[in-house]
Amino acid sequence: MPGKAFIQVILPLRLEWEPCYALPEGIRAKVGSRVRVRFAGQEYVGAVSAVDVTPEVDESRILPVLGIAEGLPEVRPEEIRLWKAVSEYYLCSVGEVYKAAYPALKIGQEEVEARGRERLETRLERLKEKLGKARKEETRERYQAEIEAVQARLQGRPAAGTAGTITLSPAQQKAADSIRKAFAAGKTALLHGVTGSGKTEIYLQFAREALARGKSVLYLVPEIALSRQLEDRIAAFIPDVQVFHSGESATRRRQVATHVRENDGYMVLGTRSALFLPHHGLGLVIVDEEHDTSYKQDAPAPRYHGRDTAIMLALIQGAPVLLGSATPSLESLYNADTGRFVKVDLKERFHSGEEAEIRIIDTVAERRKRGLVGSLSRKLIAEIQTSLDTGGQVLVLRARRSYAPSVQCTECGHIPRCSHCHVPLSLHKQPDRLVCHYCGHTEPWTGVCPVCGGTLQPLGAGTQKVEEELRDLFPQAHIARLDSDTPDTREAGIIREFAAGETDILVGTQIITKGFDFDGLDLVAVLQADSLVGQQDFRADERAFQLLEQFRGRSGRRGQPGRLVIQTREPEHPVYARLDGGTDDNLLAERKLFGYPPYTRLVHVVLKDSNEKRLDFLSRELRNTLLSAYSGADTPPAVVGPYAPIVDRVAGESIRQIRITFPRNKALTALKRTLSTALSAFGKERRYAAHLTVDVDPV
Ligand SMILES: [Zn+2]
Ligand SMILES: [Zn+2]
Repeated sequence: MPGKAFIQVILPLRLEWEPCYALPEGIRAKVGSRVRVRFAGQEYVGAVSAVDVTPEVDESRILPVLGIAEGLPEVRPEEIRLWKAVSEYYLCSVGEVYKAAYPALKIGQEEVEARGRERLETRLERLKEKLGKARKEETRERYQAEIEAVQARLQGRPAAGTAGTITLSPAQQKAADSIRKAFAAGKTALLHGVTGSGKTEIYLQFAREALARGKSVLYLVPEIALSRQLEDRIAAFIPDVQVFHSGESATRRRQVATHVRENDGYMVLGTRSALFLPHHGLGLVIVDEEHDTSYKQDAPAPRYHGRDTAIMLALIQGAPVLLGSATPSLESLYNADTGRFVKVDLKERFHSGEEAEIRIIDTVAERRKRGLVGSLSRKLIAEIQTSLDTGGQVLVLRARRSYAPSVQCTECGHIPRCSHCHVPLSLHKQPDRLVCHYCGHTEPWTGVCPVCGGTLQPLGAGTQKVEEELRDLFPQAHIARLDSDTPDTREAGIIREFAAGETDILVGTQIITKGFDFDGLDLVAVLQADSLVGQQDFRADERAFQLLEQFRGRSGRRGQPGRLVIQTREPEHPVYARLDGGTDDNLLAERKLFGYPPYTRLVHVVLKDSNEKRLDFLSRELRNTLLSAYSGADTPPAVVGPYAPIVDRVAGESIRQIRITFPRNKALTALKRTLSTALSAFGKERRYAAHLTVDVDPV
């Protein structure tokens, strides 16, 4: 008589092990089967990770599997491989990755088939509207092709044959050849192309080739907004493209997962969560805007980076990776320097003329000369006037939303702070209130100092105030504002109106850079650029450069070079020199000198607790634990802290961090495993696990 069969199951929990269950007679399971099991008194749906295992504990203590989870898809072994790779790299449990990949969906009575059609009809309307407003011939042609593709899909005509042809310029062709060579050598290709150089056509060319070979394609973008813009463009060439991101309904996401599971040669356009679809037969993975920090998941675990996880996925699938950016991350430039990636440059602009001119305005000097009117210099005001006079459009960036980033008492100097987070409260208007930008806490605005009864005065200018100033200066102009205070329902409308040329000046935070492609944009102005550069974070300069470079790429209309005006207190800052044709070598050299990534690997251990005394005590204890865990290592990592981060209290919980800097060598994986083991032992012994989180490669 055969003995009992045992299996190992991945549960959607922060568990370091995969529990063992007994298979009752009559229930058959294989690796990837979804089973219902009981754990710590609760029922879960797990994924079988191993069969025919030998239990490590007494067989009588092992619980039986309750049953197969009916109606749920099986998991592919490659998916489990990816979860394990992510779990090992990001120091989280396999179960946490499983939970992210297969969230327990609440299946309501959602619209199913009708919605697909409805979506296409909405898109058709939107495209027709765009076509009506498009001014450039090439834009009109593009919309026309997209409209035909959507119409074909609505009529259920076969996908092939409706797809337009991709024509590459000689420069694009040359870049494509270099990418092909990189792929042939088994390397990841990094396409460094300025904005408007036509990277998308190259992606689509390679996507079509992979599909023609019967392979599948995953095309990642950092943000939902970008995927919405790209969907129509891609559909003109690849009508069957599947879109997957958190903004889609649960039903729609399930449909896409089913499509991927059941078809060969599919194409998915999505944000980072699309990495965890049941991929198979991938022939190409594209990561667009690879430098974008939105690729990193902050919370909950797994705190993974979309670009780096895409490379793990591609390795498992044996697919080549094509990364693209106008401003590649230092991480990727480093990988190109060391020969892991092949960098391919595409410098010629394909869609529109020359690069924007840059003008730096020194606000300290201007203030001395009385050249400032509120937040704007007279020079900038003149530039804006020139644009308006010639029918051009203007974008104004101010990195801080609110009316005033903080307020101060004119009598005693008191600055009201959030009682939960210790950060200064910002003044917002309409309605007047003080708001904490970290936890959302609000207080009514009285204008009276709570300490001495004196008068509170706004300090500095946020987007609301800049908008007010612009309205005073340009009363005839149509002005709009876009920041995270803008209601979601208005956001798309504001963008559409600006794209259609109905708005003259758009003021806002970084949100206004997200993937916009505006025909009439003539001038981009950045106010107080100092708030972008030189902050305490060593990555601030890299990010500021990327942001400004993106801005520069976006300005310019009808083949005319646009203008980028930067107001700053520090005109000599190296970031601006770099914009003016400098290289990235300085940035890399600086990172090397100070031992920052990409020359090292960072891990943040974050501790949160409402009891500050206990937090300080246990943070120090943890540091000692880590130091002794590494005492025997050949190349021990540097352990810094515990320290209070810049924002050291959020929503009533105090925060401490320990920063661990690993040498980038062969010992990295082992050293990280030591950290993982030490942390979980500490969490268990001190009953403190719920207060600890680990962030690998924080951004
Ligand atoms: Zn006061
Ligand atoms: Zn707060």
